[in-house]
Amino acid sequence: MNPSTASEPTASQNVPDASGRFGPFGGRYVPETLTYALDQLLAAYDAARNDPTFQAELDGLLTHYVGRPSPLYHAQRLSQQCGGAQIWLKREDLNHTGAHKINNTLGQALLTRRMGKSRVIAETGAGQHGVATATACARFGLECVVYMGSEDIRRQSPNVTSMRMLGAEVRPVTTGSRTLRDAINDAMRDWMSSVESTHYIIGSVVGPHPFPRIVRDFQSVIGCETREQCLRQLGRLPDRVVACVGGGSNAAGMFYPFVDVPQVKLIGVEAGGRGSQPGDHASPLTYGDPGILHGSYSYVMQDADGQTCDVHSISAGLDYPGVGPEHSYWKATGRVQYTTCGDQAALDAFDSLARSEGILAALESSHAIAHTMQLAAQLPPHEAVVVCLSGRGDKDAAEIARLRDSIASRT
Ligand SMILES: *Cc1c(COP(=O)(O)O)cnc(C)c1O
Repeated sequence: MNPSTASEPTASQNVPDASGRFGPFGGRYVPETLTYALDQLLAAYDAARNDPTFQAELDGLLTHYVGRPSPLYHAQRLSQQCGGAQIWLKREDLNHTGAHKINNTLGQALLTRRMGKSRVIAETGAGQHGVATATACARFGLECVVYMGSEDIRRQSPNVTSMRMLGAEVRPVTTGSRTLRDAINDAMRDWMSSVESTHYIIGSVVGPHPFPRIVRDFQSVIGCETREQCLRQLGRLPDRVVACVGGGSNAAGMFYPFVDVPQVKLIGVEAGGRGSQPGDHASPLTYGDPGILHGSYSYVMQDADGQTCDVHSISAGLDYPGVGPEHSYWKATGRVQYTTCGDQAALDAFDSLARSEGILAALESSHAIAHTMQLAAQLPPHEAVVVCLSGRGDKDAAEIARLRDSIASRT
């Protein structure tokens, strides 16, 4: 089932409003030059949503190219080990390119073609969104330029190689902290001078209206499938649903189809890093304040002067100082509970899942697994917790081994 062909949204799902607001959050804080491109994107998206041809093409790609629906898997040995509730994994790690990001990039590549544009730009931190964008561009014959901080290029070189093999140009960003947020700034700057021919494929539910809504809708295939699979495999909806939150796209896609079912508790897990001090974590919903970052009003990590703080997480995909505005809205309304999981707990959960189930999870996803394991241990065996396994861990294996060695040599 595709989210946009699903029934009309309920009251609790009926955000954003026409100006892109989720309550007070969201909106559009951009220079005049981008207003036209954002309006054009919104018009193209509204037309596409109501066009059965667009939906059929996207559904076909999701089935035959991505490999959807992704399985809902009962992790029996992990559940037994935790000694409480049943843990179910939504296997986004089994998608083509190894994570949920392809759900969004294919949708936006289709929109690019619909707008008659031939060039795509994207930002990437860990490189996962860069690879998913380069993949979609290769599939549709679109020119692709990916902005990436020079520090991230060094840390994530296998993904850089993949992007180049897929025909993308990777442009190093050497300003600021040389990481994801600087790459977004450069991509925005490119877009201001190239909007006629170029679409900017944003990688999460962040940025100015209408990006948070579009990315959420494309990712909602995760939650829609999960609802149906739960009814079929458990005979009912789950008691709790857990997902990790970086920019917030896998979580938004997982949660959105459940927000109108109050008995299903929703839990977002941010990167708690090394501790609660600024610079030691990437948890804006837990420790930050509302502010403007990358064209949108949402929780953000900023210092007393309103400057965006540096952030830290062991997983590059969660290492972002902001979060999508819909999450800020869900926090404010109390619909979703947000918590954190630190570096070490994520590493431990990575091991537990590998050894009990034979699955290497992405370090990002391992944050959600860690919280799910703690939660399950406190719940009775008849309860069911579904966790979004947002991606696979092959990309992280070498880094985890390196961290182990450096810890071992210190002790
Ligand atoms: C990019 C990434 C994330 C974080 O991004 P969200 O937009 O918060 O989903 C999480 N897991 C994996 C595997 C990723 O690649």
